[in-house]
Amino acid sequence: MGDTELKPTVCPYCGVGCGFYVSVKDNRAVALEYMTDHPVCEGRLCAKGNAALEILNHPDRLKHPMKKVNGHWEQVSWDEALDAVAGKLQSISKAQSPDAIGFLASAKCTNEENYLFQKLARLFGTNNVDHCARLCHSPTVVGLARAFGSGAMTNPLSDLALSDSIFIIGSNLADNHTPALHWILAAKDRGARIVVADPRLTTTGWMADEFLQLRPGSDIALLNAMAQVIITEGLADKDFINKRTNGFADLAASVMNYAPDRVAEQTGLRAGQIIKAARTYAKAKAASIVYCMGITQHTVGSDNVAACANLALLTGNIGRPGAGVMPLRGQNNVQGACDMGALPGVLPGYAAVIETETRTQIADAWEAANLPAEQGLTVVEMMKAARDDRIKAMWIMGEDPVNSDPNAREVKEGLSNLDFLVVQDIFLTDTAQMADLVLPAAVWAEKCGTFTNTERRVQWCDQITQPPDAARADLWIINEVGNRMDLQLDGGDAQKVLSEINTVVPAYAGINPQKATTRGGVHWPCLAEDHPGTPILHTESFATANGRGQFLPVGFKPPVEEISDDYPLLLTTGRLALHYNSGSMTRRTASIMERVSSPRVEIHPDDAAQFDIENGAPTRVITIRGEITAEAYLTSTMEPGVVFLPFHFPGVNELTIDALDSEAKIPEFKVSACRVEKGGAE
Ligand code: SF4
Repeated sequence: MGDTELKPTVCPYCGVGCGFYVSVKDNRAVALEYMTDHPVCEGRLCAKGNAALEILNHPDRLKHPMKKVNGHWEQVSWDEALDAVAGKLQSISKAQSPDAIGFLASAKCTNEENYLFQKLARLFGTNNVDHCARLCHSPTVVGLARAFGSGAMTNPLSDLALSDSIFIIGSNLADNHTPALHWILAAKDRGARIVVADPRLTTTGWMADEFLQLRPGSDIALLNAMAQVIITEGLADKDFINKRTNGFADLAASVMNYAPDRVAEQTGLRAGQIIKAARTYAKAKAASIVYCMGITQHTVGSDNVAACANLALLTGNIGRPGAGVMPLRGQNNVQGACDMGALPGVLPGYAAVIETETRTQIADAWEAANLPAEQGLTVVEMMKAARDDRIKAMWIMGEDPVNSDPNAREVKEGLSNLDFLVVQDIFLTDTAQMADLVLPAAVWAEKCGTFTNTERRVQWCDQITQPPDAARADLWIINEVGNRMDLQLDGGDAQKVLSEINTVVPAYAGINPQKATTRGGVHWPCLAEDHPGTPILHTESFATANGRGQFLPVGFKPPVEEISDDYPLLLTTGRLALHYNSGSMTRRTASIMERVSSPRVEIHPDDAAQFDIENGAPTRVITIRGEITAEAYLTSTMEPGVVFLPFHFPGVNELTIDALDSEAKIPEFKVSACRVEKGGAE
C-alpha cells in the first residue's frame, strides 16, 4: 500500500475556480481537503465542489470507444475509432465542403485542449466551432468588448470586499457562485450597500439592502432609468467622462426618455426604488456591478451588458480597486475557451476571422497556407443547419446540447438528421446516446493543463490520477485525429501546446505552469515571463483601439415571446445551488441527488390558485414548443405571472425559445410564454 499524497487542483464545476487538495492513495482520489490560502475561495467550497470527487471513480464513466451497430453499442479499439472520425469527417468534407462539419468545443476542457480543437477545425477548413459560452456569456464578450475593448471581468472577486456599493443584476451568486458571497459580505461588514435586481427573490436578494423585483426582460429600462437619474442629478463623474470616454452626449440623449416614473409599467418597479438604486451606485467612492445569465440570456443580452457598462463609465467606476464590472462566468473554463478562439467569429486571442492581417499572422504561426475567412456557425445555428442538411456531421467534445440548448426537440431532430455524430465525453450523456461513435475522455484530474476562471485567473493543474481503462485525455484524442487527417497540430503534450499559445495569444505570452500555479495562478494579460499579470483591467486606458471607453446607447425592446390567452404566464429558467448546467455530472452525483433529484416549478400562490394547483402536486408546464411535468412549489418569492424551472433536468429546454440576440447569438432562455395545468402529462 502506498502513502497518501496531497495534490492541489482546481474545481471542475464553475467559473469561480476554487482550489482544493485531493488526497491520492494508490492512484485513487480518496479525499478532498480545503485550500485555505487559495485567493478566490480561502478554503470555502460549495456543495458541488465538495462532491467533485464523486465523478472520478463513477461506475457510469465511459471506459472504451464504442460505435453504434443496429442501435446497440459495440466496443471498438482506439485505432478503429480514431480512423472512423478522421475518415468520416474527411469524406463528408470532400463530398460537400469543410463547412458541412460542426465542431463543439468544451468549457469543461483545458485551454490547451480548446486551443488544439479549434486549431484542428480551422486547419480542416471551417470556422464552424463554438461552445457553451454561446449559451451563457457571449453577450459579455460582445458588450464589454465594445465598451471597454475587452469582454472580460475587470477586477478579481476579492475586490468586491473593497466596494462601497455593489449592484447585482440577474445573478443569484449566493447559490451559484458561493465564494463571491464571502467577499460581498466582507464589504457589507464595512458598511457597503448591496442592491439586487432580479425577477425572483433569491437567496442573493434576501441578503440585499434593497431588492428590486423587476419583470423578466425589462433590464434595459431599469439600467437606462438609473443612467438618467445619475445624469439629471449631477452624479456623473465628469472628469472621468472627459478624460477617458467617448459618446457621452449620445448616451445622455438616449436615456432622457427613461425617467423612472416612465419605466414603472415595463419594469414593475416604483420610481423611488430606481432613484435610490441609482444614487446608491453613483454616490459610492468605489462601486461594482455584478451580473450573470439573468441579463445575458435574452435577445437583448448584448444591449443589457452595454447598459451595465454605461453605468460604470458614467460614474468612473472602472480601473480601480473595488470599482469594476464583474460578469460571473459559468463553466470552469468558459473564459479560457473563449480566449483560445473556440468561437466561430474569432481566432485565439480574439483576432477576428474576417480580418486578413490577424488571420494571416495566425496562419503563418500554424504554417498553414490560409485559414477560412468566413464567420462560422454558432451552436444554435449549427443545430438549425443540421435540420436543413447544411451540416452533415458534428464532433461534440464535452457538451450535451440535447439538454443545454433551447428548443431541445428541434436540437434532437437536427442531431438525428446528421450523417455522422461523434461525441467525446466522460459519461454517455443524452447527446452521446444519439451518436454513431463515442470516445471516452478523461476528467480534469486525470490530465494536465490550464483553466482560466471568471476573473481571468489562469491556473495550471497537474494530472492527479489515471483515467479509467481506455479513457484518454481530450488533448491526446484531438491530436490523434489530427494526425490521421495529416494536419500539423503539434499537440501531443499540454506544456508544448501552452508554449504555442504563448506565441499566438498575446495576453497569455508569459504564462507557464510555474507562474500559473494551482494555488492562485496569474491573471491575464501576462505579457512576458517576468510580467506579474493584471488583476485589474483598464487602470490607465481601455483596450479599445483609441484607448477610451465607449458609451453605447441602447433602447428597451420587449422579449420576443409575449403572453397570450393560451400561454398567460412567463417562464424563466435558471440554476439551483446543488446542480450544474445540463446536470450530466451532478445528476450522477449521489450526495447531490439525495438532496435534489428532480425539478420543481416555482409558482406564486395567486397563480397557483387561479390554475387550481396545490403545493407539491404534479404540474404540467407547457409552451408552444413542448411540455414537462414537475412538482409545484408555491412560493411568494415569485412575482405573480412568472414561473421558474431549473434547467439541469432533461426536458426543461424543450420549453425554451431559440430566438437569438442578433450579435451575440445567445438564445432567449430567460423568457418564454407558458401555461401551467394541474396533473401529469397525458
Ligand atoms: Fe466549484 Fe464553483 Fe462551487 Fe467553487 S463555487 S466549489 S468553483 S462549483
